[in-house]
Amino acid sequence: MHYVSTRGSAPALGFEDVTLAGLASDGGLYLPESWPCFSAEDIRALAGLSYVETAVRVMAPFVAGSLGEEELRELCTAAYGRFSHDAVTPLVQLDHRHWLLELFHGPTLAFKDVALQLLGQLFERFLSRRDDHLTIVGATSGDTGSAAIDAVAGREKIDIFMLHPEGRVSDVQRRQMTTVLAPNVYNIAIDGSFDDAQALVKAMFNDAAFARRFNLSAVNSINWARLMAQVVYYFYAAVRLGAPERAIAFSVPTGNFGDVFAGYVAAQMGLPVARLMVATNVNDILHRALSEGDYSQGQVVATATPSMDIQVSSNFERLLFDAGGRDGKALAEQMKGFEASKAMRLTNAQREGASALFTSARVDADGMTMAMRWAYDAAGQVIDPHSAIGLAAARSIDLDPSVPVVTLATAHAAKFPTAVERATGIRPSLPSRVGDLFAREEAYAKLPGTFDAVTAYVAERATPRA
Ligand SMILES: *Cc1c(COP(=O)(O)O)cnc(C)c1O
Repeated sequence: MHYVSTRGSAPALGFEDVTLAGLASDGGLYLPESWPCFSAEDIRALAGLSYVETAVRVMAPFVAGSLGEEELRELCTAAYGRFSHDAVTPLVQLDHRHWLLELFHGPTLAFKDVALQLLGQLFERFLSRRDDHLTIVGATSGDTGSAAIDAVAGREKIDIFMLHPEGRVSDVQRRQMTTVLAPNVYNIAIDGSFDDAQALVKAMFNDAAFARRFNLSAVNSINWARLMAQVVYYFYAAVRLGAPERAIAFSVPTGNFGDVFAGYVAAQMGLPVARLMVATNVNDILHRALSEGDYSQGQVVATATPSMDIQVSSNFERLLFDAGGRDGKALAEQMKGFEASKAMRLTNAQREGASALFTSARVDADGMTMAMRWAYDAAGQVIDPHSAIGLAAARSIDLDPSVPVVTLATAHAAKFPTAVERATGIRPSLPSRVGDLFAREEAYAKLPGTFDAVTAYVAERATPRA
């Protein structure tokens, strides 16, 4: 399988190179040159397979040329063996029509584990083939940081430096990062906001000499391998609810557009997807883009769903490319315009291409609270605020009532106990596998939010390339 950049001028690469590169050299994002196709017969054959076997079948075409089937199975077995539920991503029924797909049974209690546990395995495999070393640098407002740290802790060929804004992530989220005491893990609390931390990381990548010396790599959802891993659970859930004989709708709490784009990929591969609901909180750039064609950046408002407090969705570029006719040169121009003015209109082709499958809804704090209460009253389910945004949107979907609607439950309620308690009166407790989180020792550096302080810290500790 070869991969092409959404901006049309970076070289096409194989899966291994795309995984290690992350972003394309022309600033674009990688996508498969063409979508693999699953026939109704192929989908029927997934019935009853375990999560790992489903993953092997669904991902095999994407890794062809870089990993054999047996190798892929080994990596998936290692990655998904760390989940606490045997089904990895179990379905829970809420009423005759609505379902939750629980994606939070991984080590750090959010759906990001599904992709990052596999990415950790892929990095290790590819780096040992090349005898190379990687320095992961990232900024986190919560879930990505802990999932990435867990996925690479203790790995010999990787160091990870994770910046978080001091005092602005929840105690659970901070402790999930800072209590990992492996020698290759470096947590840094920055005096500043998440945006400041993010800007510092960008500046490090833009320093070409520094980036080359330490072989810097990112783990945010621009990495194709993460999206690929997320395609699997759309197949797994749909097959359990009757695909390919009937179509299934999905509602996805959305921030960077990675998770819901994986649903789009599943549909391109032949999975019967009735609709993809893009659920946003009041930071609604995607809702405006999909309903009115207006992709213009507003001010980020802090909400009870921090992982969706985003005003630019990096993976949206992938949809604009694929649904808009795959014209990389034209998209590069369009994105340059957006980067300069922070606003753009979708083309007619992009709007039509998107509207075939996507719909969207903006859910405010009241809508979120009501969905949490409904899930509890209707089915005894205590759900997290992000999942509640998805569920509120799912319940507003305009579709024949015979179509099952699956809401992706992206985090465990215990990650956001205060918001959950406010809505339902119930304070969710941490599952036993992370139960002693508050007794563990923490270690992290506190640094001023300046480029010099952070690069000096990294340069002293990271492994330079041979
Ligand atoms: C990251 C995250 C999201 C948003 O997912 P995207 O792929 O960025 O759209 C939603 N919910 C939770 C809990 C998350 O951690």
